[in-house]
Amino acid sequence: MKKILCGCMAGVLLLCSGCGAAYSGDRQGMPMQSVDTAMGTIVSQTIYSKTENNKITSDIHGIIRDLETNTLSVRLDTSELYEVNEGIGQQKEVMLSEELAEYLEQCLAVSEASEGAFDITVGEVVRLWNIDNWAGAEALNDYVLPDEEAIYKGLEQSGYEKLQLDEKCLSASVEMQLDLGAVGKGIALDRLKEYLEGCEEVSGAVISVGGSVLTYGVKADGAPWRVAVVNPVDTSKSLGYLELQGQWCISTSGDYERFVEINGVRYHHIIDPDTGYPADSGLRSVTILSRDGLLSDALSTACFILGQEKGQELAEAYDAEAMFVNQDGTVAMTEGMRRCVHLYD
Ligand code: AMP
Ligand code: MG
Repeated sequence: MKKILCGCMAGVLLLCSGCGAAYSGDRQGMPMQSVDTAMGTIVSQTIYSKTENNKITSDIHGIIRDLETNTLSVRLDTSELYEVNEGIGQQKEVMLSEELAEYLEQCLAVSEASEGAFDITVGEVVRLWNIDNWAGAEALNDYVLPDEEAIYKGLEQSGYEKLQLDEKCLSASVEMQLDLGAVGKGIALDRLKEYLEGCEEVSGAVISVGGSVLTYGVKADGAPWRVAVVNPVDTSKSLGYLELQGQWCISTSGDYERFVEINGVRYHHIIDPDTGYPADSGLRSVTILSRDGLLSDALSTACFILGQEKGQELAEAYDAEAMFVNQDGTVAMTEGMRRCVHLYD
């Protein structure tokens, strides 16, 4: 008998920014707080502003929704990526917007640096597994594992070397599908950072989009930002927290974020492009710290697939800091990460 369990953990990095109260009218050190959903996950924001301006919180939600609806979604036919997939799905040449061309260029560079562990061309295999749709679903008995033949075919339709990006012109040598699920939240952080830089009244902010968090500026009392790291063994708890000053992007990839479990075997949402199956590199989660949102998100996915040793080399090559939680519960990290992490006993 098949026994199914599933999970969908949206707030991978819980915030403990030490600002629990909602706005009460006194702007002295009192942040505006708001929680909403976008990109299939929870978006929470804490904004320190000189004036009470609800437009800021609604602008922030608008930016994330816009990005999803108009650019990154693989499901909504309003997005540029949807249109791109229709084109390269038929091996047609596609002209990209400057913005999407830039994202793809950065993604392809991470593919090369990670020797294909990170690969946005695994769209067809991701679609076959369909974990993002099933994780958290209530009626699970209908979930069917993809068959080996289909996965093999899906792998033939992927491979970043088969994708050509010439300035804004994109083409592929096979009919393939792109998936930017591994970088969407990080890209959102980059956009939000740009927006906040243009908001004079904002002195500090911490915004989490699912497993990716942006810290920006300073808190009213000058205390550092604290970003908690979920304990993959017990996701109701945190392992500890990062203490940070100023602007940072923190992304976590983990096997507890989105998964289905069948007869005790967990099938999660991060695919190893070598096998077509959920990555099994001995890790439960990877947390990356970088100034750049897209990079922190891409690297957390890449490092999760590569495993601790190669993942650490990749993070260091990008001047990013990394923390790895192994399957046996042990934690390893880069030197820079050690300087800002506080782990609970
Ligand atoms: P993240 O949670 O940031 O690690 O991203 C996981 C998401 O990225 C999945 O839900 C897929 O949409 C996509 N994905 C899965 N495997 C890969 C891969 N090997 N390279 C790039 N994207 C992937
Ligand atoms: Mg990622």
